[in-house]
Amino acid sequence: MQFVQIRSFDNYMEANLVLGMLQEQGINCHLKDENTITIDPLLSPAIGGMKLMVYASQAERAKEILAEAEKEYVSTIPCSKCGEKKLVVKEFVDKPKNFLAALKSQLLMGQTSPVIKYYSCENCGTVYQEIPTDSR
Ligand SMILES: [Zn+2]
Repeated sequence: MQFVQIRSFDNYMEANLVLGMLQEQGINCHLKDENTITIDPLLSPAIGGMKLMVYASQAERAKEILAEAEKEYVSTIPCSKCGEKKLVVKEFVDKPKNFLAALKSQLLMGQTSPVIKYYSCENCGTVYQEIPTDSR
């Protein structure tokens, strides 16, 4: 059995939410380092958070499910500038500028060129680094 890491979390709730969602879709997955973090949250940054491990042959499918879920989620969030629910997920690959940055991203994300995600409003063009929080 070969498992690959497709994401890491430092939030226990979020990690379990995502895990449950994937398992519902029949994905063979589990969280690694979960116990360490539950016992001592301060250790979390040191070991790179909880790692979402997915059975290798299902990794692509799992990523699709996550991307789809996120797309659906952001489409329910109103833009904090124009109020329209027109947010979309955008991505670009960030080439690390130096060795340390490359090493860090490899340790944290398990990849050398991290994909930077951002959100943008298709109505007014506002760009968000984080999903804008609903102020209601
Ligand atoms: Zn907008």
